[in-house]
Amino acid sequence: MSVLDRIIADLSDQILLNESPVLLKLPCSSCGSIKKISVTTTQLRSYKYGELIQRAFPHLSADDREMLISGTCGDCFDEMFKDMEMNDEN
Ligand SMILES: [Zn+2]
Repeated sequence: MSVLDRIIADLSDQILLNESPVLLKLPCSSCGSIKKISVTTTQLRSYKYGELIQRAFPHLSADDREMLISGTCGDCFDEMFKDMEMNDEN
């Protein structure tokens, strides 16, 4: 289950019916820094009902989407990827 799935599970359908901006404040699961991501309830609803994350939230960067999926910020994600590359070389 992604971070975004958990957020949506906590929101009632009633809340999602009203078009309004939502500011998500998510702590990175790796470094703990808080990432702020602006979405709308309409976008959350469209994701909830099966839209792909990149279509439901077209304004988000790849880093923001990574945060919503895995709970890891872009910096930490890059860091993990770097480690993986290093391991390949060894
Ligand atoms: Zn991080």
